[in-house]
Formats: sequence, C-alpha cells, structure tokens
Amino acid sequence: MHRPRTVGEAVGALTAEAGAGRRVWLLAGGTDLVPALRAGSREPAVIVALRRVLELRARGAGADTLTVGAGVTYAELAGWSLAPGLAATSRVVGSVQIRNCATVGGALGSANPRGDLLTFLTAAEAEILLASARGPRTTGIAAFLRDGLEPGELVTAVRIARPSGPQTYLKIGGRQAAFPALVSCAFLVDRVRQRVCCAVSGVAAGPWRVTEAELLAGEEVDWSTGTASPAVARRFGELAAEVLRAAPPLPEDPRHPADYRAHAGGVLAARAFARCLGPARHEEAA
Ligand SMILES: Cc1cc2nc3c(=O)[nH]c(=O)nc-3n(C[C@H](O)[C@H](O)[C@H](O)COP(=O)(O)OP(=O)(O)OC[C@H]3O[C@@H](n4cnc5c(N)ncnc54)[C@H](O)[C@@H]3O)c2cc1C
Repeated sequence: MHRPRTVGEAVGALTAEAGAGRRVWLLAGGTDLVPALRAGSREPAVIVALRRVLELRARGAGADTLTVGAGVTYAELAGWSLAPGLAATSRVVGSVQIRNCATVGGALGSANPRGDLLTFLTAAEAEILLASARGPRTTGIAAFLRDGLEPGELVTAVRIARPSGPQTYLKIGGRQAAFPALVSCAFLVDRVRQRVCCAVSGVAAGPWRVTEAELLAGEEVDWSTGTASPAVARRFGELAAEVLRAAPPLPEDPRHPADYRAHAGGVLAARAFARCLGPARHEEAA
C-alpha cells in the first residue's frame, strides 16, 4: 500500500505501479471500494491511499467560483453556507458514518449513474480537475461521465460557479437515510444569467439535464422578482417527465418501472421549481 502525502507522490505511485504492470486502486473514504473488495466484485490490487494528501482536502471560494478538493467529505460540505445546493445534496447522502468518510473524489471515481453528487454536479455544470504524470487536465462533468478517467489519472478537485440564486436537491429512495436514490433532482437558479439548470437521475442512463423544461423556465419566470406561477411549475414538471421518457433509459427495474421513474422525476422537478421560484418560495440560497 502507498500512503502519499502530495498529489505528486500519488501520481508517482500510480505511474510506477502501472509501469510495473500492476493494477492499482485509489482509496479515499473506502465506502464504495472496501465493500466491493470484500464482496469480490473488485479484484485485490495495490492500494494508493489518499487520506494523507492534505492538498486534496481543501475547499475555497474565488470571485466567481467555488473549488472543492477530491478528499473533502460530505460531512464537510453539509454545512457549507457558500454552497447551499452542494450542502443540501451532501446532507441526504448515506448516514452520518458514510458522510464522515465518503468523498467527492470517490463519488467521481465510482461514477454511479444514480450518485447524488453527480446529479448535483451535472446541474451545476461542474468542471473536474485531474492530475496524472502527463500534467493537470480540466474537463466538464458531462465529458468526465462519458469518458471516465484516463490511465494513471486521479481527480484532484471540482469547480462550480458561485451560486447566484436559490438551489435545492430532492431525492426519493426506499427510505430517507443510508439508501441510494431511486430518483433525484438537482435544481439551480441563476438570476444573473436568467436561467435555471435542472438534472434528474434514476431515469436515464446517467444524470440527465431536462433542457426543454429549462428553456421554458428561462422564458416564463419573472426575473425581476425571481418567481413564477404554480402553473409554470406544473408545466415545468410535465416537460421534464417528457424529456426523461425520451432519454436513453437505465436498465429496466421491475419494482420501479421506467414510466414510474420518469413520472417521479417530473414530480420532483416541479417541486424543486416551486421551492426555488414559487411565489412563497423557501429559499436555500439568497
Ligand atoms: C451504506 C452506504 C450508503 C450510501 N449512500 C449513498 C447515498 O445516499 N448517495 C450516494 O450518492 N452514494 C451513497 N453511497 C456510496 C458512496 O458513499 C459514495 O459513492 C462515496 O462518494 C464514495 O466515496 P469514497 O471516498 O468512500 O470512495 P472510495 O470507496 O474510497 O472509492 C470509490 C472509487 O473511487 C475511486 N477514487 C477514490 N478517490 C479518487 C480520486 N481522487 N480520483 C479518482 N478516483 C478516485 C476509487 O479507486 C474507487 O474506484 C453509499 C455507500 C454506502 C456503503
């Protein structure tokens, strides 16, 4: 096992082990990797443990952006007032124990198509910062989810725009705690650019932007007040469900048919819309 203290050392260990023909797993919080090793769904390999890499555990705010290190845990994000949507998302992941260990980098490394953080990062149009022996690289969340990590690469951080309007994250699961999302919805309002961004997971093959519904919102919201009528919220949800029905689906799940999940996605989208833009909205961000 390697226990690097810097990103450079971690990249060096990845490169050296791969060069020697050995398989390597990065270990962050271990909440996905350790159960997979125990269950035998991942073969044993050399481990590069990232917990001592302090530079991965930083988060910070610039003039226009927020940057979150790959080693930051959900517990650390759950109370971050500068990032209300990210905080709301982090609060509904797993249990206290999971949130204390599980990290941003681990969520991206696992790339679970229903992963809560990935849903939020898709709506937030996040940039993913990566490092390898070839140097640093930045890519968009959609390209990252499509193409994955390159050989010998690790996630160092994610970058999102500073919020400029209300944000929320809603999730339906078998139960509220320590349960993966069945369907979830991230919703962000950008009052400066007068648009909304909404991603739904659990219906399409990955987190899915409901673009046609977003366009409707851009036109129908009264941007002088940042509000819209309940009828617009309903139409937003209906359009979101239509977009989701047309998207490439996740494998069929007999207990939760695709049409139910698309309907649930639309209901969550309408609810998120009303929460952020309804006349008596409950704001999670100013
Ligand atoms: C009981 C339980 C409940 C859960 N509930 C939820 C939930 O509600 N919502 C949800 O979204 N998830 C949930 N999860 C899944 C899990 O907690 C998340 O996917 C978590 O973000 C993984 O982070 P980690 O730090 O534990 O990753 P690890 O398990 O350490 O690693 C996961 C994968 O990412 C790779 N990796 C780690 N760090 C990096 C890096 N910096 N760069 C590249 N690859 C890297 C590893 O090699 C591995 O392949 C749950 C898990 C459990 C066990």
